[in-house]
Amino acid sequence: MVRNTLTELEQSTDTVSFIGGWLCLDFINTINWCDSDKPNDRIQSYPDLLVWSQQADILTGHEAQQLLEEAKLHPQKAELTFMRAIALRETLFRVFSAIVDHDTPDARDLAAFNKELREAMTLLQIRPTKTGYTMGYQGEEKALDRILWVITRSAANLLTSDKLSRIKKCAAPDCAWMFLDMSRNRSRRWCAMNDCGNREKARRYYKRKTA
Ligand SMILES: [Zn+2]
Repeated sequence: MVRNTLTELEQSTDTVSFIGGWLCLDFINTINWCDSDKPNDRIQSYPDLLVWSQQADILTGHEAQQLLEEAKLHPQKAELTFMRAIALRETLFRVFSAIVDHDTPDARDLAAFNKELREAMTLLQIRPTKTGYTMGYQGEEKALDRILWVITRSAANLLTSDKLSRIKKCAAPDCAWMFLDMSRNRSRRWCAMNDCGNREKARRYYKRKTA
């Protein structure tokens, strides 16, 4: 089902917290495993992806509306793009999990990632603006998968940056959110203190009380 207007789009998802410190990590965190047997997935359709992209500043409202129109014209293509996005999210989760564990990512995951990266890079171009130049993608206005290109590039930039050792996974046992620990002494343990950190504190408190 493809929704009709942006207002409907905006109302369809609750506010997301962006705690990853890097776009591709925030994308991984669109699925929330906390406090439930079933994950709470914010991206369950192509329009959900548009909503998140707006919140993540990948798309403006106008660009999201344009892609929504395009998705209505090509529902099958939109569904395929949605499935590709979920596959990319899983690939990125496995790749960055391996890095957190000081492991080498699976070659199949890197191959899948590189396939997305090639697609993103083919269309990358420089455009003049009033004050300088900007990067963009050829034909992006109507490209349903332009969101994937931006996420893929964000992941490539992180993988080749000096921040690899700062990537962490939340210490709460039921949370798999990832973030960049930019604290000076690298002491950050939780995705968000007022969420997982406090829950963990409460858990320990009741454990002590019942002990
Ligand atoms: Zn957490």
